[in-house]
Amino acid sequence: MGRKLLLEKAHVEGIRYYDTYRKNGGYDAAEKALKMSPADIVEEVKKSGLRGRGGAGFPTGMKWSFLAKPEGVPRYLVCNADESEPGTFKDRYLMEFIPHLLIEGLLISSFALGSNRTYIYIRGEYAWIVDILEQAIAEANQAGFLGKNILGAGFDCQIYVQRGAGAYICGEETALIESLEGKRGNPRIKPPFPAIKGLWDCPTVVNNVETLAAIVPIMNIGAEEYAKIGIGKSTGTKLISACGNINKPGVYEIDMTISVEEFIYSDEYCGGIPNGKRLKACIPGGSSVPILPANLLLTTAKGEKRMMTYESLADGGFPTGSMLGSGGFIVLDEDQCIVKNTYTLARFYRHESCGQCSPCREGTGWMEKILHNIETGKGKMSDIDLLWDIQRKIEGNTICPLGDAAAWPVAAAIRHFRDEFEWHVLHPEEAQKRNFGLAHY
Ligand code: NAD
Ligand code: SF4
Repeated sequence: MGRKLLLEKAHVEGIRYYDTYRKNGGYDAAEKALKMSPADIVEEVKKSGLRGRGGAGFPTGMKWSFLAKPEGVPRYLVCNADESEPGTFKDRYLMEFIPHLLIEGLLISSFALGSNRTYIYIRGEYAWIVDILEQAIAEANQAGFLGKNILGAGFDCQIYVQRGAGAYICGEETALIESLEGKRGNPRIKPPFPAIKGLWDCPTVVNNVETLAAIVPIMNIGAEEYAKIGIGKSTGTKLISACGNINKPGVYEIDMTISVEEFIYSDEYCGGIPNGKRLKACIPGGSSVPILPANLLLTTAKGEKRMMTYESLADGGFPTGSMLGSGGFIVLDEDQCIVKNTYTLARFYRHESCGQCSPCREGTGWMEKILHNIETGKGKMSDIDLLWDIQRKIEGNTICPLGDAAAWPVAAAIRHFRDEFEWHVLHPEEAQKRNFGLAHY
């Protein structure tokens, strides 16, 4: 059994409510942290090796230490709960079952960063979770863990929940900030990073839900202990939302010492593939990361066992590696059609592009149309190379990572499954008749 730090108590009856959470050790970490200096907390988070759990894996302590502190200017902490990456539903689980873990993490982090007004920006579709969070915030206020002069530490903090309106792009941190300011959610050019110029042009840290919740166990067990869990620079535990063709879809907390094979086949996690089917491929970190065929998924190009860590999943770089990303783990069995799968993703990215930069705005629509043609038996052999050229012209040439995220699935699918694209072109009638199921994410 792997170590559990976030979800260990998620199923204790009534843990959603303050009294039960408190009786189970809740807010002990906050009491400890508010006796420390903010600088010491930042140091502790640095020592823990915690990396951003939203997808990029950027070291959290380092991000915090970048926060500018000009005299007389407010600083903000914003929690990114706009979880919209296809295949990713781990933050939803955490907020729904153990909301006070996030509120406690937010309180400690707000104190460390000097944020008196902290925001949770949550995707609009998570409407029922807004109620859960607001109830938890009200309870924390009543218990004196939010509000004025918290625990007599001379620190004031209030948390506000803001709902998004259903745009995936608002999960990108600068688009999120624009949206929070009441504007259209268009990403800004970086630098300046939010740590220097963020919400209302003030220094701002934007962290993912899981990252902020992880601050609580770090304070409870200490950074050194936390850093001992995992392998190399993949420290602590990580939530993985597993879906697609597996026996046990759901949210799992792993301690980043297990192999991908164990994660897919062991009964503790995904429980294998239904009906004895073979594993065909997997998108291991949410739809934005490259798909890997079964052989490369289980073993790296160097012939080593692929582990569920940031480094091992990326080992070999593109095209033989992928990324741990947001932890949205999508498994495809032998019956899945890669062309249809890639088309579905292309359609998603075209729909979600904000349209600011031409390579993304034009390229995503163009890729979607070509993929639709190939999938429905109307494609030409030259379309495959055209697709390749279009994705290459998007990657690295856009304001925000959505462009790359749209390009990579197409690139990886062609690299690893070119024969399937060619089959569709060579067998148009069969391609039209084929109606493979899709992994649901
Ligand atoms: P990024 O690598 O550009 O940035 C990571 C973080 O580090 C940002 O907060 C950025 O401000 C900060 N940073 C980096 N360099 C800095 C510097 N020099 N000074 C100050 N701060 C600095 O990545 P990103 O745009 O935050 O995230 C992209 C990832 O998001 C993708 O890899 C994808 O996996 C993931 N994603 C997740 C979801 C989801 O629902 N969880 C949705 C879409 C995308
Ligand atoms: Fe908008 Fe796409 Fe450009 Fe990002 S890459 S700013 S989503 S057009």
